Amino acid sequence: MDSSAQPGAAPAVAPSKSRAGRPPASAEGRRRLFPQATDAEWSDWRWHQRHAVRNLEQLERYVPLTPDERAGVQETAALFRIGISPYYLSLIDPEHPFCPVRMQSIPVRAEARIRPGELADPLGEDKTRPEEAIVHKYPDRVLFLALDTCSVYCRHCTRRRITKGGEAELSKEQMRRGIEYIRQHPEVRDVLISGGDPFLLSDTRLEELLAPLQEIPHVEMIRIGTRVPVCLPMRVTDSLARTLRKYAPVYVVTHFNHPKEVTPEAAEACERLVDHGVPVENQAVLMRRLNSDARIIQELSHALLRIRVRPYYLHQMDVAEGCEHLRTPIAKGVEILQQLRGFTTGLAVPHLAVDLPGGGGKVTLQPDYVVERGERETVFRNYKGQRYVYPEPEETDCSCPYDEVWRSRPR
Ligand code: SF4
Repeated sequence: MDSSAQPGAAPAVAPSKSRAGRPPASAEGRRRLFPQATDAEWSDWRWHQRHAVRNLEQLERYVPLTPDERAGVQETAALFRIGISPYYLSLIDPEHPFCPVRMQSIPVRAEARIRPGELADPLGEDKTRPEEAIVHKYPDRVLFLALDTCSVYCRHCTRRRITKGGEAELSKEQMRRGIEYIRQHPEVRDVLISGGDPFLLSDTRLEELLAPLQEIPHVEMIRIGTRVPVCLPMRVTDSLARTLRKYAPVYVVTHFNHPKEVTPEAAEACERLVDHGVPVENQAVLMRRLNSDARIIQELSHALLRIRVRPYYLHQMDVAEGCEHLRTPIAKGVEILQQLRGFTTGLAVPHLAVDLPGGGGKVTLQPDYVVERGERETVFRNYKGQRYVYPEPEETDCSCPYDEVWRSRPR
């Protein structure tokens, strides 16, 4: 798909600048909102869980709400819970309703409206859920749903049918059945643990899940989907990082959506994981008027790479109930990629993915650089819009004769 961005112009996005030297928003917010919190309390993730804001009355003590937000909290009360850790609250701009942290954590009235085409289960997970804990949609991997709670309830959450409450942390029996399902399915080589947020489990409980999974011979890797490094970074302790390292390869897949979230505390959490040998990848969601601009996505990618987190996916918003106001047209994501590809480091350009409604799985999109396809040559335009010819080879047999030997080796 092509986009409306003008090729050939000077870099569409100016280089992002380091924020070094500026005071972190969290320090200012903490002084303003939680002056009595001691350093020991502020660095204790359980203190943040206990002091999370969970209703309108508590929220109004900390943030001067707009009429739209106040009505949004009231009208969505029966649909999806709110919960904001003091740390994440400290990042909110009290004066601007389009503050990206605010938009992700405080509902507005539009969230209470379900539009045609929106789905409670937009990724069709429940129809491929053979066990309470397991979603088995793809051939070689499963999703393991470990719990229904999160450090912050994101207004764009597409799994809110689970995180709105009511499913609770898995019982030991449900967890055992989930593990047993994986043991019985030798095609599963990759387990993605998610929920809710698995890092809200205690280290001991997490280990009760990781240890038996690692013992299954066909499980080659484990991924953990978490927003904790973004919303509750003090949870990433040395002890947690050591636990994850013990069961390597464990990949952490986190979810920063805006460079404002890449604070010193978040950086410390991510770097602690990486320093312990735990790779960290980021999946961002493209959200209208929050991060729907190539400059913002580039700054986010650069900020993540500086803290050794790889920008992996940029997701088109799923068609989840109550999220239409945050959805961008498909063309916007493609336009953003066109403004990044070639103009900055390839590692800073995430894959643009659409998870197809109803359970079709992910597909990726990118600008179309092919101008003409011929038998003898393919003509491309590059990121500047200039034409280049790639000659096709004379020989076209692409079979690999040694593969027969390689595949029959003793294992
Ligand atoms: S952390 Fe993830 S699962 Fe939890 S509310 Fe946010 S998006 Fe949903």
